[in-house]
Amino acid sequence: MTATAATQDTKQGTEQQGPAESRVFAPPAPFTAQASVAGMEAYQALCDEAARDYEGFWARQAREHIEWQTPFTRTLNETEAPFYKWFDDGKLNASYNCLDRNLANGNADKTAIVFEADDGAVTRVTYKELHEKVGKFANGLKSLGIKKGDRVVIYMSMSVEGVVAMQACARIGATHSVVFGGFSAKSLQERIIDAGAVAVITADEQLRGGKQLPLKAIVDEALGMGGCDTIRNVVVYRRTGGNVAFAQGRDVWLSDLVDGQSAECEPEWVDAEHPLFILYTSGSTGTPKGVQHSTGGYLLWAALTMKWTFDIKPDDVYWCTADIGWVTGHTYIAYGPTAVGATQLIFEGVPTFPHAGRFWENIAKHKVSIFYTAPTAIRSLIKASDVDEKVHPKNFDLSSLRLLGTVGEPINPEAWMWYYRNVGQEKCPIVDTFWQTETGGHMITPLPGATPMVPGSCTLPLPGIMAAIVDESGADVPNGQGGILVVKRPWPSMIRTIWNNPERFRTSYFPDELGGKYYLAGDGAIRNKDTGYFTITGRIDDVLNVSGHRMGTMEIESALVANPLVAEAAVVGKPDDTTGESICAFVVLKQARPTGEDARKLATELRNWVGKEIGPIAKPKEIRFGDNLPKTRSGKIMRRLLRVLAKGENITQDVSTLENPAILEQLKESA
Ligand code: ATP
Ligand code: MG
Repeated sequence: MTATAATQDTKQGTEQQGPAESRVFAPPAPFTAQASVAGMEAYQALCDEAARDYEGFWARQAREHIEWQTPFTRTLNETEAPFYKWFDDGKLNASYNCLDRNLANGNADKTAIVFEADDGAVTRVTYKELHEKVGKFANGLKSLGIKKGDRVVIYMSMSVEGVVAMQACARIGATHSVVFGGFSAKSLQERIIDAGAVAVITADEQLRGGKQLPLKAIVDEALGMGGCDTIRNVVVYRRTGGNVAFAQGRDVWLSDLVDGQSAECEPEWVDAEHPLFILYTSGSTGTPKGVQHSTGGYLLWAALTMKWTFDIKPDDVYWCTADIGWVTGHTYIAYGPTAVGATQLIFEGVPTFPHAGRFWENIAKHKVSIFYTAPTAIRSLIKASDVDEKVHPKNFDLSSLRLLGTVGEPINPEAWMWYYRNVGQEKCPIVDTFWQTETGGHMITPLPGATPMVPGSCTLPLPGIMAAIVDESGADVPNGQGGILVVKRPWPSMIRTIWNNPERFRTSYFPDELGGKYYLAGDGAIRNKDTGYFTITGRIDDVLNVSGHRMGTMEIESALVANPLVAEAAVVGKPDDTTGESICAFVVLKQARPTGEDARKLATELRNWVGKEIGPIAKPKEIRFGDNLPKTRSGKIMRRLLRVLAKGENITQDVSTLENPAILEQLKESA
């Protein structure tokens, strides 16, 4: 569905209410007292400054948070809009900012990374050591003839070496494209070809949940599929020592590559607009897009949001559970924490191995103070601790925590409450951070020492982010009425283009229907009548229209998840002769999947539950039970596949980014 089609419903839409959530949680006073943005007045002052002098505001931030080799004189260059440029006559190096700066400011012996391996082994790396590793790696890449502007694909699991590889590319001005280590050979091949990469950096194998999984073998398979003629070398990090094939002349062990290299590597000073990386989106709504990011504006955002959103302090132990294969692992593992000299935990394993209390155990073991994870992980750990008391967070010492965060999907209010009570012990603010691969970093989120929190709402835009809700013509809609989420002004860390496809960039993100000037996020949202708080209602493709009533899928899903029996739910629309669209819900219970008469009984019960929670119009016409839902490898529900299943059609779409294809079969049947 296009933006236009989606919002036509808004116009015809009848009574649209904001979500019913009325619980409000003020930031704890002791948190506010020490916060970098302390209180709503401080937040408002930043917003006012940006409104008064937009470019001046960003120029000030860029001078304060980034070290420039050549200072910029131009802040925002709009001459080729929507291909905006920021700080474009300035020069810098991202790795210099993340590493050398920390050697100069007294952080040399500070721990940069605490690495917790799958089997619980721990390795620590100081900033000085990280700097040396990156220098050697960078010199090694140079010895292979890799230079500024070349693209390098990184296909690795969570490791110190993965981060070092990214920083080493940045150091020499090569543009990296990290491909998540769970992707198939086919997905990898497509990304290598699209990026035109000259090298792949990988490992022999990865360790996850006690299992050795191939990486190098998949690279070989991908390269063997043809079309990857630009690849000259494959650099292999020995992680497990497993047996791998080696192509003479092409493949090189990382240990051999860095052996004898100098730890000093003069950074390649690049223009602010130089592409730091290309990253393909998760593909939950369509074919993945190669999102291209800049160096200057992007790095500014990474550093700034570490301070604003995560309130990072010198003594924090910060842990983001994302994989470096996703944008969260770029901004909030590889670049953000290092740019601000933080100590961070990097975890190789999975949340359920050797038991589903591993996250809580890691927090206690490493005295983590800031914890950032995904709603999908929270929901699955709620389910696990309902089944097995022993893995409930209450059994672990989580007293080191001071701040929690979520990212990737809307969080259902009930999951938020569980997280707040059981993990944060009602003393940690939760930052529900709305953002996208394309935005480079947080966009709409509470600031932990300022914004009163409402479960399920990402609350208010960051200072300087001109987020708004509009209808199909780009006109503002009043608070309390849903519409399309847009950003009205460019911001420093925004996507620069889609690699190889500038036309798709323009039409996807700056559609003519909205006047070609507003960034279209692709998500629907609504602002609360009284507070102006934003709630994401789902992708614009996911808005339902049942008998003229416009509803976000998220609202119905949250109502379902609020039922004590339900672990997860996904709702999609299905064409219906009488009502236009009818609601089909896919439900995962905390107990075993019901069948036959049990399933029918439970379906009726849940239907009535939703009727009571929201209203009879929101009752799903159909409910299907599964052991799980089809998810991308980053844990997002693929509603586009569920829509096909709901219609009773066969799936012919791209499922290459799907984690669990087998589940599709189970979800074909209705209860
Ligand atoms: P594709 O663009 O290929 O379909 P994707 O949108 O899932 O993939 P990402 O860029 O990783 O890829 O995800 C961004 C999307 O995730 C947002 O557009 C939004 O739908 C959702 N999202 C992320 N964080 C939040 C949040 N805090 N609240 C609500 N939704 C969120
Ligand atoms: Mg997207």
